[in-house]
Amino acid sequence: MGLPNVGKSTLFNCLSSAKAQAANFPFCTIEPNVGVITVPDERLTRLAEIVNPGRIVPATCEIVDIAGLVKGASKGEGLGNKFLGNIRETDAVIHVLRCFDDENITHVDGTIDPIRDKEIIDTELQLKDLETIEGRLAKDQKAAAAGNKDAKVNVAVLTAYKEVLEKGMNARNVTFESKEEQQAAHDLFLLTAKPVLYVCNVDETAAKTGNEYSSKVEEVAKAEGAEVLIIAGKTEEDIASLESYEDKQLFLDELGLEESGVNRLIKKAYALLNLETFITAGEMEVKAWTYHKGWKAPQCAGVIHTDFEKGFIRAEVIKYDDYIEYGSEAAVREAGKLGIEGKEYVVQDGDIMHFRFNV
Ligand code: GDP
Repeated sequence: MGLPNVGKSTLFNCLSSAKAQAANFPFCTIEPNVGVITVPDERLTRLAEIVNPGRIVPATCEIVDIAGLVKGASKGEGLGNKFLGNIRETDAVIHVLRCFDDENITHVDGTIDPIRDKEIIDTELQLKDLETIEGRLAKDQKAAAAGNKDAKVNVAVLTAYKEVLEKGMNARNVTFESKEEQQAAHDLFLLTAKPVLYVCNVDETAAKTGNEYSSKVEEVAKAEGAEVLIIAGKTEEDIASLESYEDKQLFLDELGLEESGVNRLIKKAYALLNLETFITAGEMEVKAWTYHKGWKAPQCAGVIHTDFEKGFIRAEVIKYDDYIEYGSEAAVREAGKLGIEGKEYVVQDGDIMHFRFNV
């Protein structure tokens, strides 16, 4: 999301252009503004070189281009309500900020000022959240007074949020201790409670280092504990238009970048969602499976099949680095590096898993 003319569609189109990516990077458009992208992961390619599987199956996530956010969106300006609704359905937001000068491209507010822009959008989302809260509070207060326990929890959560939002801060600044409160907070689906990644869209000359606009954003984001990514949107578009992987790599080298901004964006977004991948590597396929950070082995087994979770006996785990170092599963076994893990094992990103289960 972001104000008009900050480079959202440019970035989205880079993502959606199959040519934008190295081989093995499909994208499919579900609706004009929704696409499914695969999460780039070099580990899959390297494992496939060892295992020689029939296919590689990467992890995927869905991305939405949210248009139409302007001042007054919470009151319905610029189809604001529809687009705010689109945000509600997401798990995290990428907030694109214009950090480039270009007289030919109009800024809705006349000047380039990413901090002001960020605040315009934040304010709209905060107003919408306050509306949500006020819609709930009176009802829950009544029920709480009548002795309803859930309503009491809700009132505590709603009040804490209200206080922060009225100060012009985002709901994500509030953390809750108890499980009940955390659940109630989650069930509100507040817009400003969602994790955020700021993307500074800069000109080519600032692609590697950023510029004074993006430095300001970094300062503000740091205070919020949020992450920032610097991307040269227009340059990404140029990279996307190149045919061969080698040409793209050459262009990136010239800019002093190791990886395209689009790739970095997807990886960061995935981390922002608190998602990690474990891998299964077999002759049929090398596949990335998505799980939530902190999940234990049986829960992860359940991602593959519910029967795997129900009948879970143990997991055989190979660390990615060991697999690469020893060059085969048999060699890892021989070296005594194969971990036999039980129900309490917390799966780590990049683990190569083999589950044993009763049917
Ligand atoms: P959106 O309204 O946020 O989706 O913005 P667009 O992606 O449509 O971009 C608006 C205009 O800005 C287009 O003409 C783009 O070509 C241009 N643009 C996008 N990113 C950059 C950039 O990094 N530098 C410059 N100079 N222009 C850009």
